[in-house]
Amino acid sequence: RLYLDYCASTPLHPLVLKKLIESSQYIYANPSSVHQMGYEASCLIEESRKVISELLNVKSSEVVFTSGATESNNMAIIGLIRKIKEKSKVTPHIIISQIEHPSVYNCCKALEKDGVEVTYVSVDKNGLVNVSEIEDSIRENTVLVSIMHVNNETGSIQPIDEIGELIQSKENICFHVDGVQGFGKVPLELDNIDLFTISGHKIGGPKGIGILVIKENIEISPIIFGGSQENSIRPGTTNLPGVVSITEAIKIALLDFNKRFNYLVELYTYISSQIKKKKEFTINSPKLSLSSPHILNLSYHQEGITSAQLINLFAKRGVILSSQSACSSKSSKLSRVLMAMSHNEVISSSSIRISLHETMTFSDADYLLQSIEEVLEQIKQKKRFAIN
Ligand code: PLP
Repeated sequence: RLYLDYCASTPLHPLVLKKLIESSQYIYANPSSVHQMGYEASCLIEESRKVISELLNVKSSEVVFTSGATESNNMAIIGLIRKIKEKSKVTPHIIISQIEHPSVYNCCKALEKDGVEVTYVSVDKNGLVNVSEIEDSIRENTVLVSIMHVNNETGSIQPIDEIGELIQSKENICFHVDGVQGFGKVPLELDNIDLFTISGHKIGGPKGIGILVIKENIEISPIIFGGSQENSIRPGTTNLPGVVSITEAIKIALLDFNKRFNYLVELYTYISSQIKKKKEFTINSPKLSLSSPHILNLSYHQEGITSAQLINLFAKRGVILSSQSACSSKSSKLSRVLMAMSHNEVISSSSIRISLHETMTFSDADYLLQSIEEVLEQIKQKKRFAIN
């Protein structure tokens, strides 16, 4: 099978797998235990935190381990709002974009039910937010702006540096970035970012481990309660094998960056140039200068074919693709992201996402292109196909 759903999850990098096995096998004591083995485990966690902080160019105390990006995003947003509500009676206001991942979008929808005000800024046809719209949306009670780095459906890269500069010029507004899809794929400095989310399993690490970088001057309240782990901000026994593994995954993601980026650009350019010749498809990802080379989103622009049908047709040829984020693809037929980019319902209901990886070869790309030909032919001949 040809797996092309690397945005949903990646295979463990062999060096990460080695770390995962070794740490699971030998370092099983609870890092919070006071005995020697617990102490050794906690030292390993602190060493890992230090390595990550140096790679991210932040302070060691600013790196908090979580169970994944969904938790990091919830922790950043709900944790900040809780802290603000503890200190002030003013109703807080948050600004996010219309195309955030469900772990940010639905978190804000839930907060709205609790009386928090939320502005959902629009995106243009390239899926990019407009910094002046963010600026115009700022109110006296705005406490948080949360904008993702790279969109998980289209790959569009948001102007994070510009937004960061804007937010840092304002008082008492915090800037959160969901960095899940951009991390290790598109360079980004964390200087003007207050809260930053990373997920392990999107970068060759295991599932169930994530990071929230919380800058020193930012106060958030915990959203789950228990012991004093992670400086009491994230209680629960620390996932040591996860921590050791995400550290290795981050090292690999950042140290091999240029080689991987250049290869993905070549691969992306080859595949997209061939797909552009097919008049039946529209490429929804913006041009490469505005998007990440690991995500290619396209739609079949004739009525009657849905994303689910296309995914099944490819799956029959062993090509594993997806459409929206794995968290929403089973529930919604129309892509909220593509609708926000002003695409019509035909385009928004027939999109597929091809996500590339450094292990994909050019002959894999040729197999994908051949499958596209076959799928188009099958649709043309109006063959019957099963829809799951
Ligand atoms: N944010 C973005 C942009 C994502 O693509 C994803 C996963 O698809 C998440 C957050 C959630 O990540 P996790 O699976 O670590 O909870």
